[in-house]
Amino acid sequence: MNQMTHSKELFEEAVKYMPGGVNSPVRAFRSIGSTPRFIAKADGACLFDEDGRCYTDYVGSWGPMVLGHNHPKIRESVIDACGRGLSFGAATKAEVDMAKLICEIVPSIEMIRMVNSGTEAVMSALRAARGYTGRDKIIKFMGCYHGHSDSMLVKAGSGGMTHGVADSAGVPAGCTQDTLLASYNDLDSVREHFEHAGEQIAAVIVEPVAANMGVVPPEHGFLEGLRKLCTQYGSVLIFDEVITGFRLGIDGAQGVYGVKPDLTVFGKIIGAGMPVGAYGGKRCIMEMISPLGSVYQAGTLSGNPIAMAAGLAQLSILKNDPGIYERLNADSDYFFGRLQEIVRGAGFDYPINHVGSLGCLFFTKCSVTDYESAKCADTNAYADYANAMLDKGIYLAPAQFEAVFLSAAHTKKQLDDTLEAAEDYFQSKSKPVS
Ligand SMILES: *Cc1c(COP(=O)(O)O)cnc(C)c1O
Repeated sequence: MNQMTHSKELFEEAVKYMPGGVNSPVRAFRSIGSTPRFIAKADGACLFDEDGRCYTDYVGSWGPMVLGHNHPKIRESVIDACGRGLSFGAATKAEVDMAKLICEIVPSIEMIRMVNSGTEAVMSALRAARGYTGRDKIIKFMGCYHGHSDSMLVKAGSGGMTHGVADSAGVPAGCTQDTLLASYNDLDSVREHFEHAGEQIAAVIVEPVAANMGVVPPEHGFLEGLRKLCTQYGSVLIFDEVITGFRLGIDGAQGVYGVKPDLTVFGKIIGAGMPVGAYGGKRCIMEMISPLGSVYQAGTLSGNPIAMAAGLAQLSILKNDPGIYERLNADSDYFFGRLQEIVRGAGFDYPINHVGSLGCLFFTKCSVTDYESAKCADTNAYADYANAMLDKGIYLAPAQFEAVFLSAAHTKKQLDDTLEAAEDYFQSKSKPVS
């Protein structure tokens, strides 16, 4: 498609005024050698671009749209709240309802604080853990993404993996000197840090299912092992459930794997598409936060009434109908299972990792269990696939190391049409056996 489209025209304008034409790098489509589709509207599992083309969406705004786009109940709740004013910078009932609901849903959360993004939530949770323990060092895993705050921009996965910048410029060495790196699914690499500097380690932060180096599930015993080490050394275990929270089940990955963190970070789904993040957990740690304690953290728009209206509506729907997760997870098992058969059937030995409604087809023969093995994936082969699918009206993440997100709004027909498109693609690429 080389003819001029509205998306291309808009992009030509966009690059003049915004770095790369975008407000977040992966959206620029550079890692698949393409240019962005400009989205005009969305409904259910469909995105419509400025040229009126319709796509089945497997990104879901990177996670928040677990119920699909433009859900009528969420929309109504937001419109209703808008009628009462956009922001007060003062306490509201919606914040109490939201905090209470999350504390009811997630057993490890005794108190919670709302912020405006996942990045901000991580940054604040780390500060709380450091304030609580009086220690400085944090263990993070290579390939896990925790937003773009300075101390977390080391081997951060996601956009950085395909844009070739594992570590960002502009981050002073002093900001990352207390960030210790470990390998995902490798407890020994964590144990070594503890044996060497246990009394200095404030926290271990982990994506309980890694979803920013493709999708990498925790191996049996990994999360349990982190729990044990943190308890043994008096460190705070932080689960970054910005993607997995309220997605893998109502109580997230911690519910699925039965491991209780001390603090949890949320984002994405809790805002239903509005800019929201949150961190919460043990009362004794959360009582360190200002104005109760000595750890300062604040936000002009935190707990914004419109954002709370959106999030409350989405979480209430999810809480009141557990059947949503049953169906979503069953549909996802079907989808990723069939896709794996199709890929293998065409003679490609590429693995699919999938947990619930998150999945990733890695263009490599290795099984992917950590950052090193994820990096084996052939990003050019992924780019060819993603572009071909886009031409067929299927919107996959424009980068290999992002998850495929299914939503409750995807119909069986949409899933089957996608599988058919994938089958055509892989059959056309397969070499005849001679
Ligand atoms: C997206 C993401 C973040 C950052 O959230 P933002 O709202 O983009 O700042 C943090 N952690 C994980 C696991 C994420 O996927």
